[in-house]
Formats: sequence, C-alpha cells, structure tokens
Amino acid sequence: MKAIVTLNAGSSSIKFALYELLPHGFRFDAGGKIEEIGTAPRLRARNAAGEVILERDWQQANAISHEHLLEDLFAWAATQLGDREIVAIGHRIVHGGSDFAAPRLIDDALLDALDALIPLAPLHQPHNLAAVRALRALAPHLPQIACFDTGFHHDLAPLTTRLPLPRSLHERGIRRYGFHGLSYEHIAKRLRDIEPTHAGGRVIAAHLGNGASLCAMREGKSIDTTMGFTALDGLMMGTRSGALDPGVVLHLQIQLGMSAQEVETLLYRQSGLLGVSGLSNDMRALHASDAPEAAEAIDLFVRQAARQAAGLIPTLGGLDGFVFTAGIGENDACIRARICESLSWAGIALDADANEANAAVISTGDSKVLVRVIPTDEEAVIAHHVVDLIRSEGGISR
Ligand code: AMP
Repeated sequence: MKAIVTLNAGSSSIKFALYELLPHGFRFDAGGKIEEIGTAPRLRARNAAGEVILERDWQQANAISHEHLLEDLFAWAATQLGDREIVAIGHRIVHGGSDFAAPRLIDDALLDALDALIPLAPLHQPHNLAAVRALRALAPHLPQIACFDTGFHHDLAPLTTRLPLPRSLHERGIRRYGFHGLSYEHIAKRLRDIEPTHAGGRVIAAHLGNGASLCAMREGKSIDTTMGFTALDGLMMGTRSGALDPGVVLHLQIQLGMSAQEVETLLYRQSGLLGVSGLSNDMRALHASDAPEAAEAIDLFVRQAARQAAGLIPTLGGLDGFVFTAGIGENDACIRARICESLSWAGIALDADANEANAAVISTGDSKVLVRVIPTDEEAVIAHHVVDLIRSEGGISR
C-alpha cells in the first residue's frame, strides 16, 4: 500500500498529513500540526475519525530546530505506516514567482530558483525550503513536489498584476502575484461541487486566519486578490500590517532611522492585531480581553476586511456569493456578523442563528448574496496535486 505526505512548514508551525493512495484517489489517514516552534513546540495529530492519536512536547523547547522536529515527525510517521510506503511528499511553497504556477517535482535547479524568491516571502519561503532540504537529507530518493500558493492567481489579467510604478520594475518581477492560492483552490473546488453550473458566480472568498486575504473569483477563477507583491499586502493580519501608505515605510527609515531589517521585522512580526492591541495576534485572546486596545484592533480588522472586500466588487461587476474560511472565518461568528453588516448595502443579509451555529450557509433565504462558511483544506489540495503528478504520464520517479 502506498502513501503520501503533505507538509506546510511555516516559521512557527508545521502542518502535516498522511494520505493513503487508493485505486482512484486517496484517503486522509492522519494529520496534525506542530505549533509554537521556537518557544514551546507541541505536536497534536488526529486520525481520520478525528481522534487524537499523538500529543507531544519537547524538552529544551526553544533550542529545537525545524530540522530536528521534522526528523522526529518522520520517525513517528514511520511507526504509523504499517505495511504502507511513503512514495512522495508534497509541500506548500508560498512563492513561485512569475515562472512557476503548476505543481512540479523539486530538483536542484528549482530549489535554486525558489531560493531566489526568499526576499519576496521572508516569513514563509525560507521555512518551506528548509523543510524540503531536511527531507532530502533524511530520504534522498523520495520525490518531493512543490505546490505554489501563488499558482491559483497565475492567470490574473495583466492590469491586475501591475503596480503603479515605472514599467521597467514590472519586467523585473515587481508586480502583484497573490497568495493563499491553495486555500482558494480548495474553495473554488468546493463551490464547483456545490454549484456545478457556475461555481458560485461572482464570489469573494475571505481567508481570515493568522494570515488573511480576500480573493475575487468569477466562475471559480481568481480575477483579483488583496495580497500583491508579497504576503504583506492587503488585509491587516495577526502580526502583519497589510496595506500601508508607502510613505510610512520611508518615514520609518529616513526620519526615524530604522534599518531595512527592523522595518521588515516591524511589518511582518510586530504589526497587525498584535501591534494595534499590544496584546496578542490571536483573535480569541483579543475577544477575551477587556482592554480597549484589543477592541480597537478587532474594529480595525473588521473595517479593513469590509473596506477591501468592497474594493473588489467593481472588478467582479457585482456580488453573488461570499465565503468565509480559515481559523477566524470558520469559527468566529462575531467577526463574520460584523463584516456582513458592513456589507449589507451590497446585498448581504445574515441569518444570525445560522451564523452562530457556524452553519454551511449563513445568509437568509432572501439575501441577494449567498454567504457560506467552507473549511479550508490546503493539505487536500496538495495531496490532489501530488497524486495527479504520480499518476500522470511518466510519473515522477527520479
Ligand atoms: P489559522 O491561521 O487559519 O490557523 O487561524 C488562526 C486564527 O484563527 C487566530 O487568530 C485564532 O484566534 C483564530 N481562531 C481559531 N479558532 C477560533 C475560534 N473558535 N474563534 C475565534 N477565532 C478563532
């Protein structure tokens, strides 16, 4: 029996899943997450029935590297395999740049090309690639496949990719790309399953997690999105600022004397919900707090989400559907209600009870816009791509 593994390695977490290959398709077998890497890493894995099958933390936690954690993870996975053999590993790779959109087998040349994109995604890309290298060392003959978060946005119209800067910079790759593509690909697929004829029509999908963005989709294809050149653009996030007057960046460096690295750390790691609240990047912690700064951070998050969603409607030419996904989008009825309230002029009418219950459809029967909650599953999208490549003509053997 054959199996594949998917990995989504970030700066402070590694999500993983094990899928068993079936004659047609694949089946989720087990999966989970190592969280709080760098401070107090802990792992929790569940089986297909949702039962916790492993919980573990590490001694001398802050000294444990990603590589060490991956080694431990693979040692554990080996004990779970029984008569199954891992035949490929799929990775979420945040940035594929202009050249890479479709999933592909990772070789030395691709790794070099993806290394060159690290400055465009400094929070994610180094960790994505470090995981690839760690697994190459552990299992040199195992094919590894890159699935790009930028891929879903690869066919954006030229105007949508253009920044209002001199044209020569666009030719050098300074353009809008878009991210969270694996999550939006999953949403588009689910909408196709639910409404095969028009995949939801003109839809805004809101991926609201620690990273957050919006995607305008028409008939299941991305036509605009709030993240651009980097995953720093667009909505305010857990620790990222989102879109900002570029004059602020100049001021920080020229007037306040901050170095480029300090500005990078500020914008990626110290801003967003964490920066405005001064308390936490975690939405649950902000709801639980009485501090006025926590309330203000939530207010700003909602304001930004509604404002930027409204900004996508002209490109869509109207709005038929709205989808909430990711940690906040799937679970936080209060944030959903407030965003929907701000967009009521666009035809959204929320069913308060359905919203409180995290139902699949949370708009009223006569709402002009159908509002759904769809759990994201980036791992399943990666698994799909890996299986497609394995079964494609010629396979992926090295
Ligand atoms: P993600 O990056 O998709 O894992 O989402 C992380 C964000 O989702 C954090 O801000 C969490 O506080 C938030 N989140 C997760 N579960 C809930 C919940 N039940 N209610 C509110 N926010 C949640």
